[in-house]
Amino acid sequence: MSLKEYQRKRSFHRTSEPKGEVKMSEGNIYVVQKHAATHLHYDLRLEMDGVLKSWAVPKEPPLTVGVRRLAVQVEDHPVEYANFEGTIPEGEYGAGTVEIWDRGTYKLIDRKEDKLIVEINGNKLKGVYVLVRFKDQKNWLFFKKK
Ligand code: MN
Repeated sequence: MSLKEYQRKRSFHRTSEPKGEVKMSEGNIYVVQKHAATHLHYDLRLEMDGVLKSWAVPKEPPLTVGVRRLAVQVEDHPVEYANFEGTIPEGEYGAGTVEIWDRGTYKLIDRKEDKLIVEINGNKLKGVYVLVRFKDQKNWLFFKKK
């Protein structure tokens, strides 16, 4: 696991985002950050393997069963990123404002190469959620199971 791609994309003397490092401890942070970049999207992050596994969800994450959302996996983010809110300056990667839209914890129910089942305990998202990977590796389907 590595934050190389995360760090390569950013100039830490210009952005206030954390540089971060891979954590040795295993936590269970869940967060969604609303990111008003070129295209408004929601960044879903789950703490796993010492980093935040991250997906960009182009539409509001599903609050109810029956709504399916595309979730595009992006580079792992440092765990500290879960607390980040602010404005990424013009010209920098992800330029725009980031605000925490929902946060809490999650419980891992099942983890396979192409499928994750988690029980999310946030303020907005509550319940069992599934992420299923498409064949192309980057795109996942995100929905509430119950
Ligand atoms: Mn984003």
